[in-house]
Amino acid sequence: MMNCEEADRFLDAYVDGELEPNDRAELEQHLAGCPECKQKLDRLRQLREFFTASAPHYPAPPELKGKVLARLEVTRRSNIIALVRRPWLYAAALLIISLVLGWLKFSPDREEGVAAQAVANFKRAALLERVCDVVSPDPSVVKPWFAGKLDFSPPVVLPGLNFQMRGGRLDVINNQKVAAVSYKRDKDLFTLFIWPEGEKPIPKKDWSIGGNTVCSWKSNGFNFVCVSNMSDEASDEVVDHIKDLVAQQ
Ligand SMILES: [Zn+2]
Repeated sequence: MMNCEEADRFLDAYVDGELEPNDRAELEQHLAGCPECKQKLDRLRQLREFFTASAPHYPAPPELKGKVLARLEVTRRSNIIALVRRPWLYAAALLIISLVLGWLKFSPDREEGVAAQAVANFKRAALLERVCDVVSPDPSVVKPWFAGKLDFSPPVVLPGLNFQMRGGRLDVINNQKVAAVSYKRDKDLFTLFIWPEGEKPIPKKDWSIGGNTVCSWKSNGFNFVCVSNMSDEASDEVVDHIKDLVAQQ
């Protein structure tokens, strides 16, 4: 009979459908009688679904692998091989490190899931150095760029407070294309994710997720999620400005 430790080693390969039939049968037998390992398997599946759903267009590049491995301080060769073989694990490992929040409890389309996805997007863009697809401090450049890529026209505002707009990019939240507009003030960074509220208006709420400040609200028919590396106070200040500017548009 397989024990929990052995089962644990097989779980990744099982989720990826790469187990030999004999091992698979043994593992399934163990899972049938072990709620703990079953729970691990469910979590692993959720994690994988989360990433295949929310990050399909970012294959893991070598430098990301390096950074994640460095942060994990993985020394065991078998772990490294497992990581090299399963690119989605890089992203998963990174998010596990980054998000202290138990977001796995939440279904992705709930508000906490939306906030967690926005934070993951914010971190991924910074890590991959793909913050902007269109680089410009000028709304009259960024706004038309979105017009060709989205079926909605997001409000693009300059919040003042010495912030410079860096530009915009497309991103994905809840399997939906969203506008992401990034701003910078010295070391203060924030990205505003914008999409039509449709049938899922997002409530006004603040979070602290994985060291980032997150603020959500809806206005003028759009959902907004602001993710920043700033303090609550600094984030509130800029969000208030943005709300005023959007309301005036
Ligand atoms: Zn077990």
